[in-house]
Amino acid sequence: MGAGKNILEEGGEFKMTITTLKKEKNKLIFTIQGINYVTANTLRRIMTAEVPTLAVETVEFTKNMSVLYDEVIAHRIGLIPIKTDLKSYNLREECKCKGKGCAMCQLKFSLKVAGPCTVMSSELKSKDPKCTPAYPDMPIVTLEKNKKLELTATAKLGKGKEHTKFIPGLVYYRAYPKIQIKSCNEPEKCARACPKKILEVKNQKLIVTRIEECDLCNACSNACPDCITTGQEQDKFIFFIESWGQLSPKEIFLKAIIVLNKKVDEFAKDLKKSKPD
Ligand SMILES: [Zn+2]
Repeated sequence: MGAGKNILEEGGEFKMTITTLKKEKNKLIFTIQGINYVTANTLRRIMTAEVPTLAVETVEFTKNMSVLYDEVIAHRIGLIPIKTDLKSYNLREECKCKGKGCAMCQLKFSLKVAGPCTVMSSELKSKDPKCTPAYPDMPIVTLEKNKKLELTATAKLGKGKEHTKFIPGLVYYRAYPKIQIKSCNEPEKCARACPKKILEVKNQKLIVTRIEECDLCNACSNACPDCITTGQEQDKFIFFIESWGQLSPKEIFLKAIIVLNKKVDEFAKDLKKSKPD
């Protein structure tokens, strides 16, 4: 698995080389070298299905004079991304309270609004200033004059495999493109064929620039089949993480690595146990 020793061997390690290509507030694009498809897909699956985030799980209504039923409003509130501080909260099943619900594994929000207005996600007042709705301007419901909405919402930490509302973002990857160029008689023609202008002519020679942007459309190799071959690297991948606001893309990735390490350790332990002496 990747470079380095077998990770199931004692002291085995897992070596990956990570290079950042683009970093924005809620978006991260990077390459990982030294892993295969299996590991790349494992990381993707862990990032979407097993990195926990906070989301509203139950809503108690004291007043709902809006046009929407309680359950519709509860569903809308459940889908509001909540900024998550992973250090302050436990998963309910791993909490000391044994799943009963305490300040270490759940977070309360209150909402009290009177119309006329559109009730926004910013009206959900959190007991924890670090964990508030990620976007303040998500509409929940519109209230007419003299109509009121009052409720208490309880958020908990959960995983994407349990419910979609806990998924921290959109995560996908693709293989790193590989373009091989042999000597070319018509470099201009080959360069023109690329719709993304990745191929350039310098000193009558065809060169590849910005290879990360290549999406392997094969337009170049179709135009010049004798001089260009395209393919994919087998141990290098480009990862895209677009966060939905609960965690930063870096937090999503680092937490996924922690989860993967834990899983591998548990697997190695179980494997040792099952070995006959
Ligand atoms: Zn608890």
